[in-house]
Amino acid sequence: MKLKILFAASFAFYKLNVTAQPAYPPAPVKNVKVAVVLQDPPIPSQNGMRFHELFNWSDPLILVENLRDSLNGVSHGVLNYSIDYIYDDTLFFERMGGVLLTRDSFASLLLEPGWTTLHSSEQSGNSSFDYNMMIDYHNLCAKRDSNLINEVWVYGPPINGSWESCMAGSNAFWINGPVITGTTCSDLLPIMGLNYERGLDMAMHSYGHRVENTMLHVYGRWSYTAANPNNWERFSSYDAVWPDSAHCGNVHFPPNALNDYEVANTNFTTTYADQWLNYPVLTGNQRSINCTEWNCDAEGELGHLSWWYRHFPYFDCTNPNDLKLNNWWHYVVDYNEAVATQNAFNNNSVSCNLLSVEDLNYSKDIILSPNPFTTQTSFALGKEVKNACLKIYNIFGQEIKEMKNITGQKINLNRENLSNGIYFYKLMLENRVIATGKLIAE
Ligand SMILES: [Zn+2]
Repeated sequence: MKLKILFAASFAFYKLNVTAQPAYPPAPVKNVKVAVVLQDPPIPSQNGMRFHELFNWSDPLILVENLRDSLNGVSHGVLNYSIDYIYDDTLFFERMGGVLLTRDSFASLLLEPGWTTLHSSEQSGNSSFDYNMMIDYHNLCAKRDSNLINEVWVYGPPINGSWESCMAGSNAFWINGPVITGTTCSDLLPIMGLNYERGLDMAMHSYGHRVENTMLHVYGRWSYTAANPNNWERFSSYDAVWPDSAHCGNVHFPPNALNDYEVANTNFTTTYADQWLNYPVLTGNQRSINCTEWNCDAEGELGHLSWWYRHFPYFDCTNPNDLKLNNWWHYVVDYNEAVATQNAFNNNSVSCNLLSVEDLNYSKDIILSPNPFTTQTSFALGKEVKNACLKIYNIFGQEIKEMKNITGQKINLNRENLSNGIYFYKLMLENRVIATGKLIAE
């Protein structure tokens, strides 16, 4: 299963190398600080085994790292997620009949065949996650309002009452879960409800619904029948709603899908997906694609999701046509700050730098050879750089190598301990990304 996902993800990234030169540079890196509320305590009646151990589920601490790295990777590095707090507590925040579940009572409910009591209690509305208690207990509003954190990831066992994602704070909005009221949060606090019975694919899926609902909030509409579709409606269109003129689809519908979850549909459709790698310049040819774009990844949806996320706009400045940011990720991770940034661009209090001719020349003229490589490869640059920095990432977006203070016109990269596979490089000059690309070690 692990290997399969690895391959699918690498394939999806590989396919993206058709990118045209964007007119705007990638947006500045946005740091996103996470507080993880772990709901995986040792169980007294089970010799102190933790929940994930007792049921042989994934270790939530590893899932947390995988999710962080994947989001940093699929956002082309414009997001820099970090795990700043991990609360590994013995307290559960799920209430059943108003009473908090204990470690022993929750364990015995999960040992029950078919989880009958948990399911029926959830369906009848007899159980719920006490968000207000969690927020108070860990002082999360104060941390959010002093910018020590941006968001919260609750990692719990199945049916722990949490929403896939929801939000607290003043003027909070629906992000696939209701607004949490009665808190002291001034700024917005998104809270992901993640489940370590499921894998990284499900976490990326839940995050995707948060993305969709945020974009609905940004554009104020999500309809496929509107006469004048907005850019979110364009982006998320798929074959069943816009036959033969789909763009990138959404979490449930790949662009060639006629039904939801058809991530392994081999039917071809013509899409405008490639244009989004050049946002906001939506020009270029349609191309016929099917699920081989994301390796027809039927088991988990990670291949399709990573393909979808990688098309999500991540560029600097605002779109002159709709005055929204060209970096949609910013709205997802910090909506208030994104709107302020958008307004600053639009009233010219911050100037917008188009990708300079100089930067264009840098990235256009880079020749990487040999690629694939076995022991060493070289980057020949079109122009001399001073104090550049080269970073190498694996397919999960984890940084695995960094070369600093590079000066000159040629960079030699030694293989050292890189195993066979696909990697991505990012060449930076004074914190600007001037080139990104793919390299293969074999
Ligand atoms: Zn879903």
